[in-house]
Amino acid sequence: MRAMVLQAARQRLVESELARPTVGTNQVLLQVHACAVCRTDLHVVDGELTEPKLPLVPGHEIVGTVIEKGAAVTRFAVGDRVGVPWLGWTCGVCPYCTSGRENLCDRARFTGYQLDGGFAELTAADQRYCFSLPAGYSDVDAAPLLCAGLIGYRALRAAGEAGRLGIYGFGAAAHLITQVARFQGREVLAFTRPGDDAAATFARGLGATWAGGSDQPSPAPLDAALIFAPVGALVPAALKNVVKGGVVVCAGIHMSDIPAFPYGDLWGERTIRSVANLTRADAEEFLRLAPQVPVHATAVPYPLARANEALDDLRHGRLQGAAVLLPGQPRS
Ligand SMILES: [Zn+2]
Ligand SMILES: [Zn+2]
Repeated sequence: MRAMVLQAARQRLVESELARPTVGTNQVLLQVHACAVCRTDLHVVDGELTEPKLPLVPGHEIVGTVIEKGAAVTRFAVGDRVGVPWLGWTCGVCPYCTSGRENLCDRARFTGYQLDGGFAELTAADQRYCFSLPAGYSDVDAAPLLCAGLIGYRALRAAGEAGRLGIYGFGAAAHLITQVARFQGREVLAFTRPGDDAAATFARGLGATWAGGSDQPSPAPLDAALIFAPVGALVPAALKNVVKGGVVVCAGIHMSDIPAFPYGDLWGERTIRSVANLTRADAEEFLRLAPQVPVHATAVPYPLARANEALDDLRHGRLQGAAVLLPGQPRS
């Protein structure tokens, strides 16, 4: 099968011919139709996440069809369309796993990080961590739901009942979660990279009542802030904009260091917290909700062989919405 392979951190992915993956007892083999590109893939490729398997096939927002299944597979049949997210395996017995917090499992394994992912024509995935996808979504539209959507949704839930939300970093997750927040009757203010007028316009088009540079003070106090950009300096900036009792949610897996700030900015029972990974319950809940909103992904398609270009475009903020690789398209 054809795949885009990371040989070592900070190198470009190499288009390679790999053996067909073998299928374990609990695994399904998928023909990959679409795999969205996530900022986490950039953190892996750029060496900011330091423990990938190598060589690695990245990609953890996979939509594919089951073409073969292991002996113990009961949840899916050959021909079913399924989605594969970041959470690829958990131990099932640790205190986190047994208390509804499998996202925190110390032994968890992640798709496109410790497990080969979807930047390939085929991938094998554990059926217990795969999901049926809402029927109304095309493959390319469904792929971004699988990380940008459902980890974004976990971040939104961490904001509690906040009526006025500030969203920092208006990429794939923000553009999906803004739609959910508006559906829930919340107000969204979008804080974009200073000078990125295209992102601000994109945010307004999705229902943000205000959009401007993250270097500007919020035009109104925020009940909560979600930070999707990997920029630690946004944490104290967002904290200054939230009301007493408000929360600042850091939704990314990697962030630059957070600068020091006066305790007075945290005082008043303000909270800073992170959101890590996802649970399968998050995925089930979000995939039920998405078609009700309905959440619509702005997807920018790339052939598989152009994965490096998709990563570069994401790195430099050259696209609005989500980049999606299409392994079914012809070779470069
Ligand atoms: Zn992701
Ligand atoms: Zn565990």
